[in-house]
Amino acid sequence: MVNHFKSNSGYCVICEKETTFIEYGEWLRDCYLCKTCGSIPRQRALINVLNIFFQNWKGKIIHESSPAGATTQLFSRTCKNYTASQYFNNIPLGQDFQGTRCENLECMTFSDDSFDIFITQDVFEHVMNPEKAFKEIKRVLKSGGVHIFTVPWYHSSPATVQRARVDGDSIEYLKEPIYHGNPIDPEGSLVTFDWGMDLIEFIYKHTNMCTIVYLQKEKALGLEAEFLHVFISRKI
Ligand SMILES: [Zn+2]
Repeated sequence: MVNHFKSNSGYCVICEKETTFIEYGEWLRDCYLCKTCGSIPRQRALINVLNIFFQNWKGKIIHESSPAGATTQLFSRTCKNYTASQYFNNIPLGQDFQGTRCENLECMTFSDDSFDIFITQDVFEHVMNPEKAFKEIKRVLKSGGVHIFTVPWYHSSPATVQRARVDGDSIEYLKEPIYHGNPIDPEGSLVTFDWGMDLIEFIYKHTNMCTIVYLQKEKALGLEAEFLHVFISRKI
């Protein structure tokens, strides 16, 4: 069979091998895959940032909220002190369900100053109360610890747009509902925020954490796609 997909050779930071990156569709964020591990660009971007700024990250105490995909497999395989949590309906917070601890990002049961690195990958466009979630991440980070995350960032929009909010026991839709794929929910995850330019200010205002944004596009590392920014917020 003739392969009509565009591809290029390069090095994948997730399977840590020379590989081929293949473009299966125009939306590279979901369709520009490593042939070996199946990783997507934002996952490689996040690991690339760890490699550049935190050379000894595999020895750190790392926690990830809402783990999924090739990145999580790399963490599980190579980091002795990696843990992950996920919010499950009807499971008490702090308890394990099918091997993963149940935690609500807006109200976690971890002690203060628990982690060196806290990871979220495309989570903050789905949280209902991001102020609480950012504050909680700051609380559970050690002093000098970092929250490293990806999120769709509309950096040319001055202001963040809230798409939905909780109103008592129900959800009020402020914009037409949009859902993203969710590995633990076939109905998908509701998008609650389209983050704009003011995201960095939002984090600073509510947590005093300083954030830098890293963007690298380099096809030899499979780094090319929409929304490829990686955010690093540091707890002073
Ligand atoms: Zn790979």
